Amino acid sequence: MVPRLEAACKARKNITIMTETMAKAILTDDKGNVCGVEAESKGSKVILKAKAVILATGGFGANLKMVAELEPSLNGFMTTNAPGATGEGITMAQKIGAAVVDMKEIQIHPTVQFDTSALITEGLRGDGAILVNTEGKRFIDEVLARDVVSKAEIDQPNSFAWLVIDNKMADASSVIKGYITKGYTFKGDTYEELAKAINIPADVFAKTMQTWNGHVKDKKDADFGRTSFANPLDTAPFYAIKVTPGIHHTMGGLKIDAGAHVLKANGEKIPGLFAAGEVVGGVHGGNRLGGNAVADFVVYGRIAGKSASEF
Ligand SMILES: Cc1cc2nc3c(=O)[nH]c(=O)nc-3n(C[C@H](O)[C@H](O)[C@H](O)COP(=O)(O)OP(=O)(O)OC[C@H]3O[C@@H](n4cnc5c(N)ncnc54)[C@H](O)[C@@H]3O)c2cc1C
Repeated sequence: MVPRLEAACKARKNITIMTETMAKAILTDDKGNVCGVEAESKGSKVILKAKAVILATGGFGANLKMVAELEPSLNGFMTTNAPGATGEGITMAQKIGAAVVDMKEIQIHPTVQFDTSALITEGLRGDGAILVNTEGKRFIDEVLARDVVSKAEIDQPNSFAWLVIDNKMADASSVIKGYITKGYTFKGDTYEELAKAINIPADVFAKTMQTWNGHVKDKKDADFGRTSFANPLDTAPFYAIKVTPGIHHTMGGLKIDAGAHVLKANGEKIPGLFAAGEVVGGVHGGNRLGGNAVADFVVYGRIAGKSASEF
């Protein structure tokens, strides 16, 4: 999306893009109207004057200190987020009176690759992958909400799981092929060989796989009540990825109204300040659903742009 937005900005000749430029403060005039931003660009202080400012600085999922302060139970977790997700837009706006909402609602995602913190997409479970623990057993309906599956994973021995797929899934997915190339997968030509490769009991694991394939055939998961089935995982070779929960999305952030105006605690608009995307709180409640962050920043980004231009 970014290259397309960049091209659209370049096509409109009066838009300046400043990279390696970090916003440090939102400036206000003596009436409290937002009138620009103070930034640091390649070692120099820059003042950018503006009639309106839109914050689109993302969430704070990579600010592990802020995460742990707000939710101590997440201290020490990995993050899937890019290093820029530090929450500065939130703190800058708070300094000029913005209210925040749902700050403790921090989402952990259950399939984060154990050694690299790379996100392993939910699509794999949706397309039929299962999770097994170090005992070689399933422990949850794999397609429940992210927080529920994450909690179940934390409760397993050593708080990690193996995400298991077969070659039929791998053949059909360029994403899985990418995981194989990146070295995230362990492989076995039989269930027993895969179990050996990941050091779990082969007999238990083989039985788990056969039972699961039976559930898929019957379209009924007698163990955990999963109701979404794809193909049985019966085509060799078989693959497993070591996964554990990691911080993924921060649902909390700046309080806005439906026009993307940033609000004070008393509900008043901060004149000239708008926000959209993960910097905003309250859009997703306590648990963002997969795919909805894109919907959020596209819809509210457009609304914020319109509101700012009208302002
Ligand atoms: C691995 C991963 C996969 C995901 N997959 C999906 C998915 O499939 N579907 C979905 O809907 N959502 C997904 N999400 C969530 C979604 O990507 C984010 O919620 C979304 O990118 C947030 O968009 P944004 O524009 O608000 O902020 P961001 O995309 O985070 O962009 C904010 C930008 O602002 C910059 N910035 C921050 N502070 C400052 C400052 N002080 N000065 C200047 N710049 C600053 C940051 O460096 C960053 O470039 C995923 C997230 C991750 C981490």
